[in-house]
Amino acid sequence: MSWPGSWPIHLPRRPIACEDAPPRNDRSFDRQQAKGMTSLSDLSAFSLTGKRILVTGANTGIGQGIAVSIARAGGLVVGVGRSAMDDTAGKVAAAGGSFEAVKADLGDPAEAAAMLDRVWSESGPLDGLVNNAGIIRRADAVDLSEADWDEVMEVNLKTVFRLCQSFARRVLAEPGRRGKIVNIASVLSFQGGIRVASYTASKHGVLGLTRLLACEWAAKGINVNGIAPGYVETNNTEALRADPDRSAAILGRIPAGRWGRPDDIGDAAVFLLARASDYMHGALVPVDGGWLAR
Ligand code: NAP
Repeated sequence: MSWPGSWPIHLPRRPIACEDAPPRNDRSFDRQQAKGMTSLSDLSAFSLTGKRILVTGANTGIGQGIAVSIARAGGLVVGVGRSAMDDTAGKVAAAGGSFEAVKADLGDPAEAAAMLDRVWSESGPLDGLVNNAGIIRRADAVDLSEADWDEVMEVNLKTVFRLCQSFARRVLAEPGRRGKIVNIASVLSFQGGIRVASYTASKHGVLGLTRLLACEWAAKGINVNGIAPGYVETNNTEALRADPDRSAAILGRIPAGRWGRPDDIGDAAVFLLARASDYMHGALVPVDGGWLAR
């Protein structure tokens, strides 16, 4: 019965008995609940099972971290670089994944342009592209040479565009095919930095390019996004970490209180490659221990 003007209240048919409540310290009840939760949870939107992803600069550093994270998520990794990738192949295998190594110097325009087409034709279509390979040249802006400017621009920006273009041409040529591109930019896509003029210019360029390509391809089945890593322990930051003053200043400014690790970036890349991020276009996600929030 309900009071006039009020909603009927449906009592449970069987009152909740005290014995249904778990004894306060019964851990086995927690475990049973957790098991139930696991069987109910569906993480397939975050899975890369069966997805074939090309990662440039996969022999070391962030590229290696991305390759291993992709393998852990069930993806198949095609690693591209100019150096031997045995170390990464071993780590991917240890994670239960498959790794195909492709040799290419991405500073050579002709080689970079031909590489992705060759991979696609010879070993099959790709579901994703991670533009990770990059270089840095440190010098005061007044001293930076034209060669250092050009070399950085070639690898960090022009090659990124070329590979995005080759990837998109292949995806768009097959009706119904979808693709995901993740460009590895930097916090220096948003900030100036010091003594890295060509690097900062190239990474600002990667931000603009990521947004432009997203606008052109979002409705055509290709997601273009990027990651802005903060300061990560790799060869790229070796000189900074070796300088006690710079190293302490950087660490002191990172809210998380530690340098980033390659797998911090790798796991974010998995999200941007997976179905979970299907409605993300043109985003540059900072993975920086809070550096940009400061
Ligand atoms: P890294 O350890 O120096 O790795 C750079 C990768 O790029 C290496 O695999 C390298 O191959 C490859 N590469 C460079 N030039 C190449 C070329 N011409 N052809 C083929 N591969 C080439 O540096 P990382 O820190 O992992 O950098 C990865 C990406 O993250 C870069 O785009 C970098 O700008 C970006 N990033 C890094 C940080 C950081 O704190 N570490 C922060 C922001 C952004 P080799 O080993 O053969 O040279």
